[in-house]
Amino acid sequence: METPTTIRDLFSEDRRLGLICNYCGRFRYLNQARFELDTDIRTIAQGMACARCGSRDVETFAVSRHPRNGYWPAERS
Ligand SMILES: [Zn+2]
Repeated sequence: METPTTIRDLFSEDRRLGLICNYCGRFRYLNQARFELDTDIRTIAQGMACARCGSRDVETFAVSRHPRNGYWPAERS
């Protein structure tokens, strides 16, 4: 069974919490400090909707810096 990624993992691994809409492609970062450390990050998308198109087909996932330049991927509308 796959071990869930938690908010604690994001902090310890220098990753951030991303929210992607599978319908319109909107991508945003969420403030991961708002959530309990033991929260499975995949569960955060449950009950959320895209702020742009209203779709409930959204996913939360761990975002890593670019491996070479260290930049975070840009948000997109
Ligand atoms: Zn959307």
